Order: sequence, then C-alpha cells, then structure tokens
Amino acid sequence: MSKKALITGVTGQDGAYLSALLLEKGYEVYGMVRRSSHAGVADHRLRWLGVADHVQLVDCNLLDAAALIRLMMDVKPDEVYNLAAQSFVATSWAQPSLTGQVTALGVLNVLEAVRTAAPEARFYQASSSEMYGLIQEPAQSEQTPFYPRSPYAVAKLFGHWATVNYRESFNLHASSGILFNHESPLRGVEFVTRKVTDGVARIKLGLANELALGNIDAKRDWGHAKDYVRAMWLMLQQDAADDYVVATGRTTTVRDMCAIAFKHVGLPMEGHLRIDPALYRPAEVDVLLGNPAKAKAKLGWEPVIGLEELIAEMVEADLTRLARR
Ligand code: NDP
Ligand code: GDP
Repeated sequence: MSKKALITGVTGQDGAYLSALLLEKGYEVYGMVRRSSHAGVADHRLRWLGVADHVQLVDCNLLDAAALIRLMMDVKPDEVYNLAAQSFVATSWAQPSLTGQVTALGVLNVLEAVRTAAPEARFYQASSSEMYGLIQEPAQSEQTPFYPRSPYAVAKLFGHWATVNYRESFNLHASSGILFNHESPLRGVEFVTRKVTDGVARIKLGLANELALGNIDAKRDWGHAKDYVRAMWLMLQQDAADDYVVATGRTTTVRDMCAIAFKHVGLPMEGHLRIDPALYRPAEVDVLLGNPAKAKAKLGWEPVIGLEELIAEMVEADLTRLARR
C-alpha cells in the first residue's frame, strides 16, 4: 500500500517541489490549502510542475487547531510536512502578530493535531537559517547558538524548539530541517533572487530600465529547492528523528548573485541597478553560511545544482513567462 503524506503549505515553492518528489516515489499526496477567493489559481505552482491533478487538496488553516485535528483524523497520514508559514522576513516587521500566530503557534497546532490524531506519523518542521541571525560562528551547524533578528526568525525559533520538545516529551518522530535559503523559478517574486531574475528579464525584454535593491552586501548560502525537498524526505526515512542543517557551504553577496543574472543575459549591471534605502531592513542578517556535514554523513544528502545553474534557470523561466504575456 502506498504511503500517505500530508503537506501544509502545498501551494508554496517547496510544497510544489515536495509534491512532485513524493508522487514520483509513489506516495498518495494530500496538500493543505487555506480558503481564499483565489482558489482557482492557488495551485499554479503545482500546475507549473505538472502535478496539480495528482495532489488531493484539502481545505484547512494553520490557525484552526480543531480543524487540524479533524484533518489528521480524516487523512491518517504516514508523514506530515509542515511547510506553511508567513515566510517573508520583511513582512514580519509589518505584521509581527500574524507572523507569530502562523509561523510560531501554527506549528504547535500541527504538532498537537499529530500528537492527538496521528501519533505514529513522522513530522517534518520547516525551520530556517534565519534563526542564526547575528551569527555566532562563521559556519553555522546544528550546534551553533541561535540569535534571531526578525519577528519571522523569532517565530521560527519557537517552531523549532516546539518540534524538539514534542519529540522529547511525547516521543513523536519529529524532525526539524534548518534549511538555508533555497530558490527556484517558483520562488515568490518578493524574495531577492526572484526579484533579481524577474527584474533582469524585464530589462532584457525592454519592459523596465532599472532594478531597485536594498542591502546588496548581504550574503546568503543559496541552493535549489529541488535539492532541498529531497533532504526533507530523507529526514523522515531515518529510524530516529533529528535536526539537520541543509545548505551548500558556499556564501555569495546579493551583488554577486545579481551580477550572475545580468551576465547570463549579456547586459552590464552598472547603470541598471539602483540602491533604494527604503528597502533596507530594521535589523539585517549580514551573512549566512551553512555547514551541511551532518546531513551529508547521516542522510547521504548533497546538493546537485549550483548557484550559476540555479540563477540561469530562473532567468530563463522569467524570460519565457514575460514573453508569453
Ligand atoms: P512560501 O511562502 O512559498 O509558501 C508558504 C506556504 O504557506 C503557502 O502555501 C501559503 O499558502 C501557506 N500558508 C501561509 N499561511 C497559512 C495559513 N495560515 N494556513 C495554511 N497555510 C498557510 O514558502 P516556501 O515554500 O519558500 O518555504 C516553505 C517553508 O520553509 C516555509 O515555512 C518557510 O518559512 C520555510 N523556509 C524557507 C526557506 C527558503 O529559502 N525558501 C528557507 C528556510 C525555511 P498561500 O499560497 O495561501 O499563501
Ligand atoms: P531572507 O534571507 O529570507 O530574508 O531572503 P530574501 O531573499 O528576502 O533576502 C535575502 C537578503 O537580500 C537580505 O539580506 C535582504 O536584505 C537582501 N536584499 C537586498 N535587496 C533586497 C530586495 O529588494 N528584496 C529582498 N527581498 N531582499 C533584498
């Protein structure tokens, strides 16, 4: 009999790639969707990957604890991937309370539902490298102390420790993946990589003249979402639940990532890039660099797609998307 997976946040970037991976592995995939008036387009990422017809969408919201319990009772999943969140750091200063309710307490709601209605299920929590914030070590591993720098990171830290605590308190098979930034053509356009690839494609097609960015000295450890969802799945295939850093081990400035995108379309960055101080954040995470040694040793996981290939794929997808309009 095929295994059943329930994915919260199935309409997001990682939800789409994880759905495709699990379907390929023969899983029955249930994707949790929150009701909205845009229901007709909610599955656009699943459609882009050609898997929308194979994912069974179920209506629920991370904020409704009782509904989550009923959902677990109905689906009876073998694996639960909690990917849903208010996931954009910049928005978390504008809507800190909502971010706390969804990104922190929402995790507790899902854990409670698993504990109550599906205690045998294996649980994955989407934790974030943003929890390291003001970094305490040059390369961050599972042992590095956390120092969150945004309401988003504070909320994610709650979700991370709630996962560890439910594992230790109730013996749940609950793992936390501390994932560094990962991107793809399905990344939201508000995040810097996609903003850059979309902006560069617009300039190339003559639809815009410039791209406005904030702090281009910030450094991130960027990988491809397709590689990272594989690590999520691997975590839930282990006998014991645990926490893992998932990263490439290479860090790059926003400026250099942007230069890769401009180079790909044969345009100079100079003259097209404008710095807008309004895009600076109240508190910045200057640099993130992950040490994925544990994931490599215990999960046998390694990233396959490098930054140049990732940015090229994203620029090409944006060129195609914009040309079609
Ligand atoms: P996205 O922003 O693309 O997706 C977030 C998902 O959460 C969407 O499906 C969204 O639904 C859903 N969601 C938001 N609020 C609720 C709610 N109240 N109830 C139910 N669903 C809700 O994120 P990603 O796919 O990029 O990331 C997946 C997870 O991994 C997130 O938790 C993110 O914080 C975390 N993460 C991501 C990293 C990255 O670099 N991508 C790095 C580290 C962690 P809707 O479509 O309706 O908005
Ligand atoms: P984050 O690491 O989850 O916050 O991912 P983002 O892609 O949103 O931001 C990565 C880095 O790029 C942060 O240090 C931002 O300050 C920086 N950055 C610079 N300009 C921009 C911009 O215009 N938009 C976004 N989203 N980030 C920017």
